[in-house]
Formats: sequence, structure tokens, C-alpha cells
Amino acid sequence: MHETSIVNGIYRTLEQEFEVEKRNKMKAIYVKVGILSNIEPRLLMNAYEASHMTNPFYQNVKFNIEMVELKIQCESCDHITEVKNYRFLCDNCQKPSKNVIQGEEMLIHKVEFDD
Ligand SMILES: [Zn+2]
Repeated sequence: MHETSIVNGIYRTLEQEFEVEKRNKMKAIYVKVGILSNIEPRLLMNAYEASHMTNPFYQNVKFNIEMVELKIQCESCDHITEVKNYRFLCDNCQKPSKNVIQGEEMLIHKVEFDD
């Protein structure tokens, strides 16, 4: 499943980023999911919960998913527009733009630890 490999990717990133002593104090993971990222938040949450059967390390770590809107930056005037209804037009000068700067990715936004 697509979402399972994403969850495993998150674990790999955290394991590279933090020493095990630090990871033992992990309290919460915050991820941002772009609306064009092809990730279904509900399935991602299910995959996270299912992963605890094989990876109980994260069982008590909260998982927060935030959806991120799609934004483009105009090549002509640099204005940043939030895309609504897939209208890729600059708010400022009305020129079309495909220069997506946010909304296609999934990223680990924040990790919380116990003190
Ligand atoms: Zn513009």
C-alpha cells in the first residue's frame, strides 16, 4: 500500500534525524500533506496505526496530519496565489502559472518530545 511506504519513509527519516535516546522521548509527529500529493489522510492515519503491530516503538506517539493548500507563485509578478478549483491563475495579474510552490509534497513539519 502506498501509505504504508510513506509511513515507513517517515520512520526512516526520524531514525536518521534523531538518536535513539531522543526518539524514546518522542511525543508527537506533525506532518503536512499537500492536497496534490496523492495522499489520502485517512489512509495515512490507518497505515500509521497498523504499523504499530510490527513497530510498537511509535505506539504512544501521536500522529497529526494537516492538509496544505495549493499555492502557485507567478513567474511574471512573483505574487503568491492560493489555487481554488484548480484555477492556476495569478490573483494579481491574472496570468496563468504552473509554478507550484506548495501543495504537492508531504513533509514532517514538527516533532515533539517529552522534556
Ligand atoms: Zn502575476
